[in-house]
Amino acid sequence: MDFFDKMVSTISSTGKDLGEKAKETADLAKLQLEIRSKKDFIDRQYAEIGKKVYEEKKDMVNSGYEEIFLIKHTYEEIEEIKKEIADLKGYQQCPSCGANVKADDNFCPKCGSPFTSQDDEMDIIDL
Ligand SMILES: [Zn+2]
Repeated sequence: MDFFDKMVSTISSTGKDLGEKAKETADLAKLQLEIRSKKDFIDRQYAEIGKKVYEEKKDMVNSGYEEIFLIKHTYEEIEEIKKEIADLKGYQQCPSCGANVKADDNFCPKCGSPFTSQDDEMDIIDL
């Protein structure tokens, strides 16, 4: 093999290596993506189990899960934030069904619950 042949052979084998490497990298990425999507699927199943456990135990005084306490606390925080949003928009939230109702309405148009405004409560406290 003369110099030129060697050079051609080196170039073509390097080219082949690069092609194979690219394919390997693509295959590897595909497999890693497959693992990730399966792990995401497992995580969703875990979350479903978690929701079921939460629903079963949320009303217990001591559920044995700190997470349940944390979730309940966070739901309460969300409710407070929703009230703030409703307030900013000039609405109040129906305490029964959670519908946004005009601040000066006395009844919920959605579920019919009567509202006691904060002023009324103040009056009751004053008496
Ligand atoms: Zn309502």
